[in-house]
Amino acid sequence: MGKLTVKDVDLAGRKVLLRCDFNVPQDANLNIADDSRIRASLPTINYILSKKPKKLILMSHLGRPDGKVVSKYSLKPVAERLKELLGREVRMSVDCIGEDVQREINESRETVLLLENLRFHPEEEQNEPNFSKALAGLGDIYVNDAFGTAHRAHASTEGITHYLSSAAGLLLEKEIAYLSKVLEKPQKPFMVILGGAKVSDKLGVIENLLPKADEIIIGGGMCYTFLYAQGKRIGNSKLEKDRIATAKEILEKAKKQKVKILLPIDNVITDKIEVDAKVKTVGENIPDGWLGADIGPKTIRAYCATLKKAKTIVWNGPLGIFEIDAFASGTKKVAEFISRLKATTIIGGGDTASAIIKFGLEDKMTHISTGGGACLEFLEGKVLPGIAALTDSSITNA
Ligand code: AMP
Repeated sequence: MGKLTVKDVDLAGRKVLLRCDFNVPQDANLNIADDSRIRASLPTINYILSKKPKKLILMSHLGRPDGKVVSKYSLKPVAERLKELLGREVRMSVDCIGEDVQREINESRETVLLLENLRFHPEEEQNEPNFSKALAGLGDIYVNDAFGTAHRAHASTEGITHYLSSAAGLLLEKEIAYLSKVLEKPQKPFMVILGGAKVSDKLGVIENLLPKADEIIIGGGMCYTFLYAQGKRIGNSKLEKDRIATAKEILEKAKKQKVKILLPIDNVITDKIEVDAKVKTVGENIPDGWLGADIGPKTIRAYCATLKKAKTIVWNGPLGIFEIDAFASGTKKVAEFISRLKATTIIGGGDTASAIIKFGLEDKMTHISTGGGACLEFLEGKVLPGIAALTDSSITNA
């Protein structure tokens, strides 16, 4: 990937600053509801510790405290979980910059420290140079393993790289390796599954993948703008009026480029998005007063028949409102089907990853990205600032 990685740099006896993505979901009692992001960073943490650093200083954001100290967004529960997962002490710092933090780093007996939420300071998201410099001053070398925030130029992802040699962690390297292989030389047939709420969020991905994909399979709320563009009746389903023209253009472009775009041929519809709502299955047209909440059984069969031929599958966005069981079938059945294929299966982060975890299929996919927005931007072909800022691998003496 042309960037320095943690394996290229000397870590022994040094203070290593590692940016992780510990932005985990928590319940009302602040218990960690899903620790997959913490677990995903363990290989890098354990690798660094095996090289006997002087200190390993972990940093992350959690939630959206908007530049203020908000106790419910403290990283303390993460430190506790890390202790259990690593089987060693993790010191929770009072803050992420300042004299007290410096003192803790210099005087604490623990090797591993977790800095308090970076976003308690507005300067983090502002990418403010003095704040970046203060963070950099805590260590001798910087490693970024936070793919989930690599699409943001923040002080701890971009600014800090101006002051320290900066390497990719193992998770970041793995994410880049899988996603760039898909963009550069996917094994064919290459199929893309797109869903989720908003068509506007996925247009960039369609544009970028259209010349590379063999077939694009569409479901979720986003499919109704396409069905509307084809002249179908969509009732009260999700429609982004300002994207109808673009949807039409994409369908025409796909035809010219001989890329098949598959849209639902039947739909599970409802009168309201609630657990006790009326539910029925209809064909391509949805009557007024009803909205499409999931792809129907014929569509599931058709999509699986197509996916059977795939050697590479990239999936971003659930095919229905999977959070409600009555509308989860499309996402679940397609997930189960592709989990049994020999193909390379890459799952975009965010809600798609949550759905795969909900169905217990996380170990059956080739790669589940830890980044929602970052994964989308990567698939759109954009340069992610957190990756671009890392030290080029041609530069030695790290
Ligand atoms: P996204 O973050 O764009 O991938 O969207 C994920 C969300 O899309 C999930 O919360 C789903 O419940 C929602 N979604 C999936 N299918 C539909 C649909 N047919 N109508 C409305 N929302 C949907």
